[in-house]
Amino acid sequence: MGSVQIVTTILAAAITAVAVWLAVRAVLKMVAVIRLGQPAPERFTDKVARARTMLVETAGHTRMLKWGVVGAAHWFVMVGFVVLSLLVLEAYFEVVTADGGLPIIGHWTIFGLVTEIIGVLGLVGILVLMAIRLRNRPTRPGGRSRFTGSTMWQGYFVEWIVLLVLIFGFVIRGFKVATDHFEFPFWATPVSHAVGAVLPDWADGVSVAAAIKIIISMTWLIVISLNVTMGVAWHRFLAFPNIFFKREPTKPAGSGLGALRPMTSQGKPLDFEEADPEKDQFGVAHVEQFSWKGLLDFSTCTECGRCQSQCPAWNTGKPLSPKLLILSLRDHAYAKAPYLLAGGGKDLTGEEKATQAQLAHLDVLALAEADKPLIGTAEEGGVIDPDVLWSCTTCGACVEQCPVDIEHVDHIVDMRRYQVLIESSFPSEAGVMLRNLENKGNPWGAPQNTREDWTKGLDFEVPRVGEVDDFEYLFWVGCAGAFEDRAKKTTRAVATLLNEAGVKFAILGEGETCSGDPARRIGNEFVFQMLAQQNVETLNEAFDGREKAKRKIVATCPHCFNTLGNEYGQLGGEFEVVHHTQLLAHLVATGKLTPVQPVDGGVTYHDPCYLGRHNRVFAAPREVLGDAIAGDLTEMPRNSERSFCCGAGGARMWMEEKIGKRINVDRVEEAMATGAKTVAVGCPFCSTMLNDGVNGKGAGEQVEVIDVASVLLRSVKPEQPQGGKETAPVGG
Ligand code: SF4
Ligand code: SF4
Repeated sequence: MGSVQIVTTILAAAITAVAVWLAVRAVLKMVAVIRLGQPAPERFTDKVARARTMLVETAGHTRMLKWGVVGAAHWFVMVGFVVLSLLVLEAYFEVVTADGGLPIIGHWTIFGLVTEIIGVLGLVGILVLMAIRLRNRPTRPGGRSRFTGSTMWQGYFVEWIVLLVLIFGFVIRGFKVATDHFEFPFWATPVSHAVGAVLPDWADGVSVAAAIKIIISMTWLIVISLNVTMGVAWHRFLAFPNIFFKREPTKPAGSGLGALRPMTSQGKPLDFEEADPEKDQFGVAHVEQFSWKGLLDFSTCTECGRCQSQCPAWNTGKPLSPKLLILSLRDHAYAKAPYLLAGGGKDLTGEEKATQAQLAHLDVLALAEADKPLIGTAEEGGVIDPDVLWSCTTCGACVEQCPVDIEHVDHIVDMRRYQVLIESSFPSEAGVMLRNLENKGNPWGAPQNTREDWTKGLDFEVPRVGEVDDFEYLFWVGCAGAFEDRAKKTTRAVATLLNEAGVKFAILGEGETCSGDPARRIGNEFVFQMLAQQNVETLNEAFDGREKAKRKIVATCPHCFNTLGNEYGQLGGEFEVVHHTQLLAHLVATGKLTPVQPVDGGVTYHDPCYLGRHNRVFAAPREVLGDAIAGDLTEMPRNSERSFCCGAGGARMWMEEKIGKRINVDRVEEAMATGAKTVAVGCPFCSTMLNDGVNGKGAGEQVEVIDVASVLLRSVKPEQPQGGKETAPVGG
């Protein structure tokens, strides 16, 4: 060993020792912070499915590849990181001697070939990612960027480190070629040979380049260890457990969506008949009241901004960005952690748990952070502004896009639950809706005895459950379908089509109440459970004696469809629920309904969030339209998984939209830009929002917003009166 090798070996050993010590300290800190969260026992089920999903999502990059070029480039960088870590390990042999290499596999030609290929592809990948980050930098002229609010230096730092490590991999090999220490043939390692051809025959070159490569790699480890909230780097490790512990491991896509998580205390679902706010946690008031999975979510965020780029609130000038919300929670959790780890925290009655002595030596910044309200305005020093919390439509676009399966919607609703149930703090205009739900069983406050008014004037009898027993489908009409004028037309169209197709169906009539969706999404779990339990009882009675496969429900409202199908199981109601577009598609496909007159003038389709993204029903409404219209469906640029919300979900239907551009107007502009004369929808709330948007633009005469069922009815029964111009909804 020459003097140069002695120096490079000491340098490599010293910086590695420091880096490893800091990294161990950082990991212990991170684990301690994540363990501050509440239990989540349900995350430990289905371990095989979890492992499979984790492997598919990481190795297959199934989520990242939805963003073609970025996904492919990131895949090469990820594979490069894993495989080329072996070359960093090899560098420890090369600082000692120029012909050093990994024992055994380091001498295999196949190892030389694979690492050469991955090195080249990794280089291309990282250059592409760097170019994309630069092109989308928040400071570029014009427009918002998905990186707005991301910590840009961290992204640049990580990318430069990857680039330099890859380059020095080839420099080391190049020196080996130049000094005749390289054992791989030209055909397997052409780039290394080409680099070697331009490098000098410097005997110490290999050891010096290897030392530089180790210093670069360990600098990275030191920097990320000193910055435990540097998700852009830590996600390389945290993405694996975060995906493993996702809440629906058996669902491959959009798996954070569908059912909302039940309200839990100490990891157990809360039953409001026994719950006590002095003993049980009602929603989330402090960051440590999220589950440990929530804290893992916050730590894993890569700051990529995919969620932000799709968020309807952010895209219409609201203060909510799902990315910034997660980052605020992350930064707050880590800043408050020293206080919590010292024994600090408030019990459920608001009393401090720690003694004076426990908090005596704490950093003032940690104490100040602990004093911040989780929800509060900037003047109150709040972590999350109320306008951020209440801007969410729970559309799920963020969850759908997140490459590391962060569950934004659950976290938002958990914070809403505390605000509504304990603080009674929510947009005041939504109070009317909640009162109506409690007193009248529907958000409009319409009299229960008018629930069947939509049946008047139909030229056939609509059977009620109880009057008939042999119905195949229970037609769940929903509050909008029963009380709101536009939605009533859809209800009538569906009933007419079912009757035409000879489907045996029955309605609950006055026995139906609101499914509870708006109460649950606004955070009022108490009212949700009250309504849901009543409905589950009614439905169980209606289906008494039937097995699950024969407890069939058809719903026209995607919110009811989602709640009945995905959430009533949490309360003992197991049903087979289909959306009316699914049933209609089946009836057309089996020849029970025959479209005879194609609807023309151009048709576009707006995917309702709770039908599409939340429940993956993308094809059925398109199939129905494909059979009913002349020509092809004209898709909007944002469709299917990337559809843009109408603005009504998450109980936003019942709140005023005071900030930024109206979401429905943004969507209507997109629909109108297609040139279609008909905007087909599959949800009564989308119908209201888009109709309002069209009318607001003064285009009510040129563009019509109607349900898929009404389009089909026009095609199946062109002679059927269509009910004329839409009228205003009940209650506005
Ligand atoms: S659910 Fe929709 S509105 Fe809410 S944060 Fe996510 S993308 Fe934005
Ligand atoms: S939450 Fe997910 S999608 Fe959004 S910035 Fe973080 S990692 Fe990216």
